[in-house]
Amino acid sequence: MQFIDLKQQYQLIKNDVQREINEVLDSGQFILGSKVSELEAVLSKYLGVKHAIGVADGTTALQIALMAIDIKPGDEVIVPAFTFIATASMVALLGATPVFIDVDPISYNMDASKIEAAITSKTRAIIPVSLFGQCPDLESINAIAAKHGLVVIEDAAQSIGASRNNRKSGSMTTLACTSFFPSKPLGCYGDGGACFTNDDNLAEKINWIRVHGQDKRYHHAIIGVNGRLDTIQAAVLLSKMRIFDKEIAARQEIGARYSQLLSTTNCVTPAITQGNTHIYAQYSILVDDRAKFIENLAKLNIPTSVHYPIPLHMQPALKKYYHNQQLPVSEFVASRIVSLPMHPYLDHATQDKIINAVISAL
Ligand SMILES: *Cc1c(COP(=O)(O)O)cnc(C)c1O
Repeated sequence: MQFIDLKQQYQLIKNDVQREINEVLDSGQFILGSKVSELEAVLSKYLGVKHAIGVADGTTALQIALMAIDIKPGDEVIVPAFTFIATASMVALLGATPVFIDVDPISYNMDASKIEAAITSKTRAIIPVSLFGQCPDLESINAIAAKHGLVVIEDAAQSIGASRNNRKSGSMTTLACTSFFPSKPLGCYGDGGACFTNDDNLAEKINWIRVHGQDKRYHHAIIGVNGRLDTIQAAVLLSKMRIFDKEIAARQEIGARYSQLLSTTNCVTPAITQGNTHIYAQYSILVDDRAKFIENLAKLNIPTSVHYPIPLHMQPALKKYYHNQQLPVSEFVASRIVSLPMHPYLDHATQDKIINAVISAL
């Protein structure tokens, strides 16, 4: 059994993906080009956002978004303490300070009620993460940001396809970033990512920054990076977009079935908060004795994964940004969370096997 089975998906789309890739091979254009522009148009239409800009990966998307708003040493950026490292490490890479706030105990997303206490005269931006495939309270976060003149950058690396109050993740904030890492809900066959915005000026800057700050050929208006999306990855994503709505529906059905069949156990299943759809980039539960639980499941050949075992403020690389704030929910969740196999092609028989194993392992 695979934790995320990408082979089943490939068997289904093999002909279309190979046709798309062959078109790229025949064209001789391997960086950016018409397939990337086509993908950007498909994504911007899908999300209902004016600009989608393909970049090298999700981490680079965050770096470029932060560079586009001129984040510099001395600036502070508010991030949740419970997320993947890249949400905060790109802030630090630019010499700015990630300021950790706690997550809420229901969605494990940034707790909007904790933001204002973390704002100082140096705060420039907030990066809410739509963790595991469900958005945080972006309306409240946007309102707080507007009140204090801050930019909101949604880290939508796990949530493309999710929506909140009928708007798509990636479309609700000044900037948003996503990842097309192979195991993400919308994944390519290597590294890939994108930035999203409705702001024409930011879109232009992001377009420059992803190509060395170049505004005209070999003329560099600002400092940039080499952050372009490969054409072959765009071709793969164009093919995957053709089945994406079906896959999102399957994810929702499988996630709901897990929650229903695990509801009588004493593990904590994911809650869908008001206004949201959840696309279960991960199906993650809380258990009391995680080490034993994982060991028990492994004996039954059920793979698991932990997203994430160490909250950011306890990571060696980021500890220096931690100043003894209270982050009890992040610490509690990090110590108990465990993810079960989840992908759109998980059939009921396999899922039943996982559920029975979970029940016996608890
Ligand atoms: C995957 C991920 C990233 C980084 O994306 P890459 O494409 O791997 O660079 C950033 N933030 C979150 C929340 C992620 O899950």
